[in-house]
Amino acid sequence: MKRYIIELVQGGASLLAGLGVTLRALVAQPVTVPYPRKKLPMQPGFRGHPMLVRNPATGAFTCIACGTCMQRCPSRCIDITAARTESGTKYPARFQLDFTRCSLCGICVEVCPVSGLAFSRSFAMPHRTREACKYDLVTRGEEGT
Ligand code: SF4
Ligand code: SF4
Repeated sequence: MKRYIIELVQGGASLLAGLGVTLRALVAQPVTVPYPRKKLPMQPGFRGHPMLVRNPATGAFTCIACGTCMQRCPSRCIDITAARTESGTKYPARFQLDFTRCSLCGICVEVCPVSGLAFSRSFAMPHRTREACKYDLVTRGEEGT
């Protein structure tokens, strides 16, 4: 009889503890938001796909098409076609990034001698084909336009 009462009390306490957890979860604020109607603030360290950086004074890309990022990318996902202006300055006529292979490691951003690459803030990039994930960074804006 004594054992029965002890088990009854322990079972009741366990039940109340479980109900307490459920009640706390019921009244707690959710940690998720109803995306896309509501969006959380972007974190400073967020890494979207690498993008070409423009010189704020001239609006031109700072990239000099040296090819260092292409050589150092461990995923081999950068392919650059260089061209020259009439004055002989090299620039990227085409800067293809295969985003299906990019691991966002940041090596290309770090090795660029002219700070020509940075991480974009772009994160919503749904595509139907792999081909659509190959971006020409010369024509692609930060938000994918
Ligand atoms: S972030 Fe890394 S994997 Fe992506 S393009 Fe740059 S070097 Fe390559
Ligand atoms: S982004 Fe930088 S490292 Fe890459 S080709 Fe342009 S200048 Fe060279």
